[in-house]
Amino acid sequence: MAWGFGKKQRQDEKHDEDDEDDEDDNVDLVNFQGALEGRTADMAANTRLVQVALRPTKDLVTEGLERRAEVMRMDIKGEKAQVALMIDGMPYAGPRLAKSQANAVIQMLKVLCGLDARVKGKPQSGGVKAEFQGIKYELTVEVAPQPDSSERLTIRVRNLSIRLETPQDLGFSDSLRQTIRDLTSNRRGLIVCCGMPGTGVTTTTYALLRGIDVYLYSIYSIAKTSRELLNIKQFEVNPGDDLQTSMMRMIREEADVIFVDPIRDADTTQQLMSVADRICVISEMQAKDCANALAQLAEWSGDPQKASELIEGAFSQKLVRLLCTQCREAFRPNPKLLEKVGLPPETKILYRKGVPAVNEKTGEEDDPCEKCGGVGFYGRMAMIEAIIVTDPIRKLIASSAPPDQIKALARAEGCLTFHRDGLRLVAEGKTSLEELQRVFKG
Ligand SMILES: [Zn+2]
Repeated sequence: MAWGFGKKQRQDEKHDEDDEDDEDDNVDLVNFQGALEGRTADMAANTRLVQVALRPTKDLVTEGLERRAEVMRMDIKGEKAQVALMIDGMPYAGPRLAKSQANAVIQMLKVLCGLDARVKGKPQSGGVKAEFQGIKYELTVEVAPQPDSSERLTIRVRNLSIRLETPQDLGFSDSLRQTIRDLTSNRRGLIVCCGMPGTGVTTTTYALLRGIDVYLYSIYSIAKTSRELLNIKQFEVNPGDDLQTSMMRMIREEADVIFVDPIRDADTTQQLMSVADRICVISEMQAKDCANALAQLAEWSGDPQKASELIEGAFSQKLVRLLCTQCREAFRPNPKLLEKVGLPPETKILYRKGVPAVNEKTGEEDDPCEKCGGVGFYGRMAMIEAIIVTDPIRKLIASSAPPDQIKALARAEGCLTFHRDGLRLVAEGKTSLEELQRVFKG
């Protein structure tokens, strides 16, 4: 179905009808299924608003979900409101609404989230459950007052059917999975997943945890934010116990691997290092890439020699958009291009973003691809960088070497780089060279 067309019209046609009773008409619209966070959506107390605003709210959210938006943001400027959609990390224009309708939609969403619709001029946030085309979602809704006294609406979408948590889902190669199993089998050492906010660090960390053989090793999680993980024991922290005490208890309970909250400072680093000779510790941290993470840990440890003995590896990821398999275009790369980007000369076929065909008679573009709506991409995947700490790299860490030196040596040793992993995805036809370039520039 081509989104963005016909919906406005449908809305106008139905303008004066109570379309909530019209089952047929609602089949392809989102259904709201109750507020989150224990709140209650009081629809009965807001019947007038429901009459006016429920349908446009459903239209807006439906379009966002149909186009697979992660975030829908609505700003009111003058007499109009413009919706922007983030799809696979890229902004696209969404629908435009009249100011009055936009305000009604914001009030409607407040009610659906169980918030007080009368409150304006104060930031509010809540959530609502939704279902669309058999898929369940959780929508987080934020309303923020703006200087011009309008309100900005932000809806964040969580698709409950997507669980990117296994190494296979994330596209970890077999050899990388073996490396993870080797690293975690020693019952010692610190392993970090790193990246900048919004790059999927947590997803990679979970994939890493999932890569551990849970039948052979017992994994404990003490991370406050941890999602439910199969076969991983959520450790109950005794009231008053600090991290150190809790970690000692886990060691006594014979845990092999522990998963802890993100490393943010020297204090946490030193606490983790004080136990990492007796247990394998997995955590995440903010860093541009693996080499920067390793250098930062050495600094925070206050004892680079000790850090060099305890750090086993660092993993990082960058998200790259996947070509839509329905409309991607195959082409035969010329030898010069292959050489330039570093792909094997025997590569026969690569893929790029498809372009809608132009109708010869009318000169107009054909309808956009049904699957991706003409975006050319559908979904994302992680490119992985991994530095396994070898003896030569330990020496660099111990001498407080700068990240560039660590990176250069890791590359010379043949570590997995974003570039190499990205080219693998290009060679497999999963993404395009142009998309790789875009990600590396950003
Ligand atoms: Zn497509």
